[in-house]
Amino acid sequence: MVRLGESVEGRPIEAYFRSGSGDATIMVFGAFHGDEPKSVHVARRFIERLALDATVGGDGGWVVVPVVNPDGFARRTRRNANKVDLNRNFPTKNWTVGKRRSRMFGGTKAASEPETRAVIGLIEAHRPTRIITIHSIGANRYCNNYDGPAQALAAAMSAINFYPATASIGYPTPGSFGTWSGIEREIPTVTLELPSHHSSKRCWLDNRDALLVP
Ligand SMILES: [Zn+2]
Repeated sequence: MVRLGESVEGRPIEAYFRSGSGDATIMVFGAFHGDEPKSVHVARRFIERLALDATVGGDGGWVVVPVVNPDGFARRTRRNANKVDLNRNFPTKNWTVGKRRSRMFGGTKAASEPETRAVIGLIEAHRPTRIITIHSIGANRYCNNYDGPAQALAAAMSAINFYPATASIGYPTPGSFGTWSGIEREIPTVTLELPSHHSSKRCWLDNRDALLVP
């Protein structure tokens, strides 16, 4: 694992890299939200799979960051140690500060948080051709939510995991990672919302191949 940076409280933010011979670079992220541990389980199992079998994943490169928000993950809280929702902290045109006490607080300014800046630095350094960012969600709202030129990717994932492909999560998400990467940078981006009522094992089995769609 490569250390990308550190969290507010000094925990390492780490990435697994597997280089490839092709032009594609696919990035996978888990735990933007620390209270979504199934995203970490799926990302870690995926790293194991990529590491164990070089024939899996095509000829492109892979970068997997299993825990974007290690302070939140340590406490099982959505937000980071500064109580910022990292998925509302990206420097998009629609970024807003939001309410400080809100669970979706966008931070005192865009990209105020070291975790956000570590992700931005990684993307600017390695120029991914596809991004899958893993979350979990309740109330049967699981989906392959796409931003930017990723409708076909979301549909291909749906054919494997049977989650609906959706263009909107159903509420505004100013400053979200998907807006920053997918809509504003046109990197095909899918926010994979796992069903939080399913077991970690089932989430992995339903998505182990969906993460690999060509
Ligand atoms: Zn989430």
